[in-house]
Amino acid sequence: MNNSYDLIVIGAGPGGYVAAIKAAQLGMKVACVEKRETLGGTCLNVGCIPSKALLESSERYSEITRHAADHGIKTGKVTLNLATMLKRKDGVVDGLTKGIEGLFKKNKIDWLKGEGRITGKGEVTVGKTSHKTKNILIATGSDVMPLPGVKIDEKRIVSSTGALCLAEVPKKLIVIGGGYIGLEMGSVWQRLGAEVEVVEFLDRITPGMDGEVAKQFQRILEKQGFTFRLGTKVTGAKATDKDVTLTVEPAKGGKGESLKADVVLVSIGRKPYTEGLGLEKVGIKLDERGRIPVDKHFRASAEGVYAIGDVIAGPMLAHKAEEEGIAAVEIMAGQAGHVNYDAIPGVVYTWPEVASVGKTEEQLKEEKIAYIAGKFPFMANSRGRAVGDTDGFVKILADKETDKVYGVHIIGPDAGTLIAEAVLALEYGASSEDIARTCHAHPTLNEAVKEAALAVFFKPIHI
Ligand SMILES: Cc1cc2nc3c(=O)[nH]c(=O)nc-3n(C[C@H](O)[C@H](O)[C@H](O)COP(=O)(O)OP(=O)(O)OC[C@H]3O[C@@H](n4cnc5c(N)ncnc54)[C@H](O)[C@@H]3O)c2cc1C
Repeated sequence: MNNSYDLIVIGAGPGGYVAAIKAAQLGMKVACVEKRETLGGTCLNVGCIPSKALLESSERYSEITRHAADHGIKTGKVTLNLATMLKRKDGVVDGLTKGIEGLFKKNKIDWLKGEGRITGKGEVTVGKTSHKTKNILIATGSDVMPLPGVKIDEKRIVSSTGALCLAEVPKKLIVIGGGYIGLEMGSVWQRLGAEVEVVEFLDRITPGMDGEVAKQFQRILEKQGFTFRLGTKVTGAKATDKDVTLTVEPAKGGKGESLKADVVLVSIGRKPYTEGLGLEKVGIKLDERGRIPVDKHFRASAEGVYAIGDVIAGPMLAHKAEEEGIAAVEIMAGQAGHVNYDAIPGVVYTWPEVASVGKTEEQLKEEKIAYIAGKFPFMANSRGRAVGDTDGFVKILADKETDKVYGVHIIGPDAGTLIAEAVLALEYGASSEDIARTCHAHPTLNEAVKEAALAVFFKPIHI
């Protein structure tokens, strides 16, 4: 038996490490168990951060090769040094994960290196050492969802992790799954020169996204060179040293065919990760989707055990995990921790970006809520015109009677940044008139949000 703690967090992803820091700030004695060599979880090591680093580098390459001439900038032959691009990405990851180590030291959090398992009430064992604790917070995250018949080798058939470090740009990349991870990684390689085809089981991309936005998104990606094979089921894959043969058939049944690619990316989602955690020791049973059931206070069914992040229900997003981590430890400390699930933004970091918060038109219709939709295109936004990014629009959905904003959906330049004011609006229960009457600097892309709000409660000025 070793040290005893107020809190042991299992998993140092954005949910776990943020919770550990917050708990230390609240005066608890904290340890965090992490089995990876580095802190930061999926997000920092093989998720949000490396993918955004590559999206940035590939977007710069694409700007130079495809758009510099529009601005009167003449370039010589532009060449790609993929090894340097990948090295830069690794450097970004390295710097940030070391940063978390520094924050752990600053906050006197013990990093228990290795795989943690619950071995009894208030007891977590790492390797051969058991640690006593008042509370346990499970933040073990998620893992790649496998696809039956398609064996990931991380060379020819890769998961998102393999897609972050391909040694060369594939001539043809097939992405299985039209969700945000597949489209982001597809964008990286498409910009660097790959022909990218997306095979999706459903008859639309990005399920859950507002339907009108998703359609526009698909059109824009097609304009960039993506091809989509919707309503298509992948039935098997065979990889050789040189390429992959994928067998597919219509999702609703019919004649199958085979497709060839240099690399296939499997990105059909992620599954909660609880392997080896010893949940059975404390009587915690998983739900039908392998998640840990928790109550509104993030308490699992065993006393003193809490869970947050990708391993529980809700959108698998880093900021959702962080909010839950903070709320959970505030609750442990006797404070009123709370997460507003109606105001969690979602962003796809392609170009243009797609960002949304709150309800979609489809949800409002299903819930029979009377609403007004106001839209404003970036084509009519002066900053959009000046920078040369005019694809997309802002759509605001507000209550027909009260004008309270239910949802904001943006497809366009920097949508991921623009959505912040919409999140704040939802958090404060703002009306579209509140947004429209707020002074927005000129000329900014944000003015498109103001104009869309004007379009809800009266009329936009510039269209
Ligand atoms: C390619 C990609 C891109 C993404 N991009 C974004 C994005 O742009 N924005 C966004 O919000 N989200 C993004 N995500 C999702 C995001 O990474 C996750 O939602 C987030 O990491 C979940 O955080 P978490 O703390 O719940 O778990 P994780 O980040 O998965 O961390 C869990 C940690 O627990 C450790 N662990 C598990 N079991 C044990 C054990 N028994 N003992 C010790 N350690 C253990 C694991 O090693 C892991 O490090 C992306 C994901 C991927 C794959």
